[in-house]
Amino acid sequence: MSRQTPLWISLGLFCAPPLLMLLIAPLLTNPLASHLLKLKEEELIAYQAERSRMLDHALPSQLSRFRFDCGPEDMALLRSPEYYNRHIRFAALQPAKGTGCSTLGPQWPLVPEVEIPGSSDFHLTSTPPRFDTERETLISARRNGNLAYWVLDSSWSHELLRTPCQGCFYLEFNHRDPALAGLFFPRGNQQIRQEANPISRVNVDHQHQVEQSLWAGQALRQYAASRIRHYGLPLSLLLGLGLVLTYWLLRNYRNSLDGLLRLAMRRGEFIPFYQPIVDSRSHEVVGHEALIRWRRNDSFVPPGAFIDYVERQGLIVPITEQLVRQVVADLERLPPPQWVSVNLVAAHVEHSYLDALLHRLRWPDPDRLTFELTERIPITDMQRAAREIANLGLRGYHFKIDDFGTGYGGFAYLQRLGIRRIKIDKMFVDTIGTQDLKRSVLDAIIAFGRESGMEMIAEGVESQEQIDYLAERGVYLIQGYAFARPMPIAELVHWQPPVKAAEAMRASGA
Ligand code: C2E
Ligand code: CA
Ligand code: CA
Repeated sequence: MSRQTPLWISLGLFCAPPLLMLLIAPLLTNPLASHLLKLKEEELIAYQAERSRMLDHALPSQLSRFRFDCGPEDMALLRSPEYYNRHIRFAALQPAKGTGCSTLGPQWPLVPEVEIPGSSDFHLTSTPPRFDTERETLISARRNGNLAYWVLDSSWSHELLRTPCQGCFYLEFNHRDPALAGLFFPRGNQQIRQEANPISRVNVDHQHQVEQSLWAGQALRQYAASRIRHYGLPLSLLLGLGLVLTYWLLRNYRNSLDGLLRLAMRRGEFIPFYQPIVDSRSHEVVGHEALIRWRRNDSFVPPGAFIDYVERQGLIVPITEQLVRQVVADLERLPPPQWVSVNLVAAHVEHSYLDALLHRLRWPDPDRLTFELTERIPITDMQRAAREIANLGLRGYHFKIDDFGTGYGGFAYLQRLGIRRIKIDKMFVDTIGTQDLKRSVLDAIIAFGRESGMEMIAEGVESQEQIDYLAERGVYLIQGYAFARPMPIAELVHWQPPVKAAEAMRASGA
């Protein structure tokens, strides 16, 4: 991936939501306009329901309390806030005898210029057309020749129709009762009816026999489109930003050691290299140590760069499993009785991880698959580890103490874990031929090993001098650059230990 690629990806992620938004915005306009129309209808219905509830209760109650003399009680009743509220524009009384009165005041009779039947029922009609003004609902009732009437306030419908945009709605009330067929109230922007594709919603109030039709057209669509731009653009930019942020977080995670290691595990990038262990007396290969390598692109990363982290993060168990599976497969290509030794950490035997793994692998041949347990990481649950090792010992598996003398357990480990093989660390081998104080530790380890009948392998052996020194003290199993470096299986199967000098001389007839 070029260094520019993440920047291009980020730019793409950032621009994608706004571009997508611009593309789909026209498709969203109609649904949003329909939704706004529905909301408006609901708002209107809710308002009317409240108004009907008020009128149905207030008008009969007020009517029954009128004395029809336009005296102080009638005036108080006319103007009582209980009855004279935002739903009533105007109310008036016309007594059978005498001057009328109204909410405007006594002596302010306003004779409705409409025909009102003589029955005592509530009668519904509209105010007469005057100039160009809108007609409004007029309710009237008669009692003993007296007349009361109310003009309903229709300004609410204008107010409601003005939001959320001017001229976006047209509302029509039609009375379905044939007797009131002439009652028809148009409100709002009437031009919408002449448009090509208006949308509408019709609602029927069966109780009052009123049909309400609400219409909308181009103006509402334009408003919807502007809302989509208004909210959609910043939102999609925010989404783009979120995507870019997520991308970088994921990228950083994948580039972090943890992310890289988990990815490597999924991709099977951990493979074993093998370092032969040679008997210095015969130059025969007795076995090999499996040493993990991380194959990255074309290079092999040695464990020093990641193994501590892997062990601390608890990734070592699944990674060892990957490694052991490959070792078991590679053993087929190595001549018996050569074995391969795999590095373990305490966790493998403090739990049943190793046992479970070998179980899953159907118990590979214990003479060919062996283990070494490092002293570098202390064993905390010694009892459990001893039990696990003993159980696996019953199945024939062998363990070595690795890095012997460098860590925590040393002799105690050997004793408590019942282990009879040690690997003498390079740190001590390096002291051969020097005056380093640790050389006496090397001598002590070797003396201890011989006396207690331990099998000893010296690791990190680089020179003939070291081989000879160790051989003089009875340590013959040698692992180190003196014989071979760790190598992949493909190389190992062709590798031959160097012929012993004595044999070479004999072969040449000297
Ligand atoms: P170790 O177990 O002590 O392995 C021996 C290390 O010494 C190996 O390093 C090996 O390449 C190196 N070595 C062997 N002979 C010589 C020599 O003559 N000269 C020099 N200079 N070095 C020599 P490597 O492969 O880098 O491994 C380092 C450590 O990583 C190992 O030390 C072991 O503790 C750990 N390790 C390796 N593979 C695994 C694994 O699969 N699991 C676990 N848990 N640890 C591993
Ligand atoms: Ca080792
Ligand atoms: Ca070592």
